[in-house]
Amino acid sequence: MATILYQDQFIDRTQAKVDIEDRGYQFGDGIYEAMMVYSGKIFLLEPHLKRLERSARELSLTLPYSIEHLADNIKKLIELNQLEDGVVYFQITRGAAPRQHFFPEHTPPVITGSVSSKVRDLSKRPKGIKAVLAEDIRWLRCDIKTLNLLGNVLAKQKAHSVSAGEAILHRGETVTEGSSSNVFIAKAGELVTHPADHLILNGITRLFVLDLAKQLDIPVSEREFTLEELLHADEVFITSTSNEVKPVLQIDDQLINAGEPGALSKKLIAAFDAEVERIRTQTVS
Ligand code: PLP
Repeated sequence: MATILYQDQFIDRTQAKVDIEDRGYQFGDGIYEAMMVYSGKIFLLEPHLKRLERSARELSLTLPYSIEHLADNIKKLIELNQLEDGVVYFQITRGAAPRQHFFPEHTPPVITGSVSSKVRDLSKRPKGIKAVLAEDIRWLRCDIKTLNLLGNVLAKQKAHSVSAGEAILHRGETVTEGSSSNVFIAKAGELVTHPADHLILNGITRLFVLDLAKQLDIPVSEREFTLEELLHADEVFITSTSNEVKPVLQIDDQLINAGEPGALSKKLIAAFDAEVERIRTQTVS
């Protein structure tokens, strides 16, 4: 998809230039959001924008335009690319600054956005994924959605090296989240997920699923849980923008629920699918 957003303009991807001293490029000094698009409509746009604003605040990154203007530009980008189903990726970096004169508030940020199409074909959806365990070696502000993702990348590499779909991270005995997802377990009819503190990214899908669980009268506990609880859970699933709700059927060599998606996972997936269908038929995005 050729047209990208660059600052306040829409240009061909090949025309975009990033300064080699851009601080996002050099230090991961920037923030981002990825959002799904269903039938040309952005799913959960408001909470994504709110999180973007929070990430910007946490890094003292001053947005040059209002959040409403950014939202309009994201919508325009989707229109220009005639994107029906796919992902819109949006990023703001600190931009380039002379190192000896670095004042975060004086460096003009660089804003970019791009889209890619991804058909949501339910008939081809896998019933679940395999995951591996990996020590969580990331920094202690995982709540900010920054471009500083090397710990996540190394964990994902570990997963891919054994054809697993996700790495589930743990700090000692405590499970935190996935390398690019949040982790839920179910035990005796209750869902458990790590509390939204500095050790995890408070996923928009996590929040959405917590809301669905409430509507479905499924009890939820936001508390820390251990590796032992993970491996002996009745069900495990991950949530993320691109994965939505995805059952984890195996962790390392251990099968979960005999390698089948559990009842609560299936209930939440059905509710999630219904919500996507509702969004598709809405008249205003
Ligand atoms: N945790 C991490 C580390 C992530 O990178 C992501 C998504 O990229 C998530 C959780 C899930 O967040 P969301 O549901 O907002 O996509």
